[in-house]
Amino acid sequence: MMKTVFERPTSLKSAPFRYCPGCGHSLIHRLIAESIDSLRIRERVIGIAPVGCAVFAYDYFDFDILEVAHGRPPAAATAMKRVLPDRIIFSYQGDGDLAAIGTAEIIHAAARGENITVFFINNATYGMTGGQMAPTTLLGQKTTTTPNGRDTGHSGYPLRVAEMLATVEGASFIARTAVDSPKNLLRTRALIEKAFRYQSEGKGFSLLEILSPCPTDWGLSPEESVKWIQSDMIPVFPLGVLKDRYAAEET
Ligand code: SF4
Repeated sequence: MMKTVFERPTSLKSAPFRYCPGCGHSLIHRLIAESIDSLRIRERVIGIAPVGCAVFAYDYFDFDILEVAHGRPPAAATAMKRVLPDRIIFSYQGDGDLAAIGTAEIIHAAARGENITVFFINNATYGMTGGQMAPTTLLGQKTTTTPNGRDTGHSGYPLRVAEMLATVEGASFIARTAVDSPKNLLRTRALIEKAFRYQSEGKGFSLLEILSPCPTDWGLSPEESVKWIQSDMIPVFPLGVLKDRYAAEET
């Protein structure tokens, strides 16, 4: 029988991940690192870490990583890309960083058509601070601040970030994927590469929303968590490419 060997991507340090068992961040970090290796852009990449569970991204990625104030990665990415146009700049942001405190920054970066790549990790909760309601929390979902489940009368509706940004004229590529299955891991990897490639080709603003398990704050096992993504999250946040300005050139 052939033995499968998983080698560490060059763009990942050998440091063990400190994420909870079953957390999607570890998978997504690996997919980003593999994509950077595959595109041979490691020496040109600068990542921006969020305030959130991935705040220590610089401990894991083996290329330049900047830590900026909560919600401000798109503003910092804008500045870096304009000053260093040959660099590949990406931000890595969660629900709180991008969809709450950083809503203004992400919308205006998209409207300006900044030539940057954004990875938005949607786990429908505030992970680092203990599982409070996020803008992406589903209706009926129990969190520490919605113990009886999110209800529209008190907390409104979940924010669909990818759909919202797809309506922004300046955005070039907007897609949503998930890390709930081997098939979707491969699809996520391909979309990450495409988003980076678009930036290399000067095609403008790209955002990839990634549905990601948070077993700890969901109170589920890792296996139950990926099933919950499939049964509860994907119907609210459907997967697919929502906008691709250059789709005709790709076929
Ligand atoms: S709290 Fe959730 S998002 Fe944060 S590391 Fe644990 S599983 Fe991952």
